[in-house]
Amino acid sequence: MTTTRVLLAEDDEAIASPLARALSREGYDVTVAGTGTEALSRALDEEFALLILDLGLPEMDGLEVCREVRAARPDVAVLMLTARTDEMDFVVGLDAGADDYVGKPFRMFELMARTRALLRRSAPATGAAEVLDAGGIRLDATARRVTVEGEDVSLANKEFELLKFLMEHAGRLLSREEILTEVWGDSDLRGSKTLDMHISWLRRKIGDDTGQQRRIVTVRGVGFRFDAE
Ligand code: CA
Repeated sequence: MTTTRVLLAEDDEAIASPLARALSREGYDVTVAGTGTEALSRALDEEFALLILDLGLPEMDGLEVCREVRAARPDVAVLMLTARTDEMDFVVGLDAGADDYVGKPFRMFELMARTRALLRRSAPATGAAEVLDAGGIRLDATARRVTVEGEDVSLANKEFELLKFLMEHAGRLLSREEILTEVWGDSDLRGSKTLDMHISWLRRKIGDDTGQQRRIVTVRGVGFRFDAE
């Protein structure tokens, strides 16, 4: 298996170093560029799956780099880092073609979740199909198809992502924050009922609300766990 290559364009050493380390720990092959022109030439000359682009870069700003990369390489995923929320609104408004935006300061686990989500979305649909099979549920990630005891079940996008995340970590307790960050890309939904509503819809669709078997277990005050037994 080849390693996923990530180009990190960030001139602030205090952000670039820990971020590059965290990305390496996740198994990515990371290249750091300190200026916009270096980032652009590397992005065009080499093969990266993801660009993490700081907005404020020396020589050429992140927006310009993003535009140029987009024009030449539409298949590369781009995650933009911006210093402030109002700056983020501005950048999103301009729509330079980034796939996602994260405001600084960011929490490392959130940035990693966004990175995984982006790379999942942009992953080519070749290679071995990703199929999860547990508790009578079969989830085919490539075909985006779910069967329960052999019967097709139709899930909405977030329900599918939620079930996939739970099944990928079957037997492990997942906190509400982890789930919200991974599936919604936003742990700040914590106080809302979004997650509980989706869990309840999902249970109904997979028949967890009727049978004696309950695969999605609530751990009060903490989160949820998928039990395969
Ligand atoms: Ca900067």
